[in-house]
Amino acid sequence: MPTFVRTDKCDGCKGGDKTACMYICPHDLMKLDKDGSETGHAMRAFNQEPEQCWECYSCVKICPQQAIECRHYADIVPLGGSVQPLRGADSIMWTIKFRNGNIKRFKFPIRTTEEGSINPYGGKPTAVMANISKSGFFNEMSGYRAGNPAELIRK
Ligand code: SF4
Ligand code: SF4
Repeated sequence: MPTFVRTDKCDGCKGGDKTACMYICPHDLMKLDKDGSETGHAMRAFNQEPEQCWECYSCVKICPQQAIECRHYADIVPLGGSVQPLRGADSIMWTIKFRNGNIKRFKFPIRTTEEGSINPYGGKPTAVMANISKSGFFNEMSGYRAGNPAELIRK
């Protein structure tokens, strides 16, 4: 279900060239309505194509004003409930609001490495492109190893 912007909270990222939600959206859906001609709310962002939203929550997490919320599937978050993250420097706090007013909060550590510093292919075998058309190549699992329960993150 798509995200929407709360115009009472959004400050248009204080008029920067590219707002945080525009920067992060992998589908380029967020847009700043500079003069209010599209939404009636000048200097507020909006999700310009809600039906294309991946529901990835990236914009919800990055918004510095907590202005973006998500319309959830009713079987997961019934009407009146909400799931809202608040990002810190080394953790993210999820606030779960139930429709009866109960609130629960969960705090999880997050990645603290510098943006763009991770090498996703580091330590992986080099691709052998000649193999790509071989039947069954996907299932050969050349880089496969069995999972090790000791590597699970536990607190
Ligand atoms: S990131 Fe948040 S405050 Fe900034 S423009 Fe988007 S909705 Fe508004
Ligand atoms: S939830 Fe993801 S796809 Fe949808 S508007 Fe936000 S960043 Fe874009």
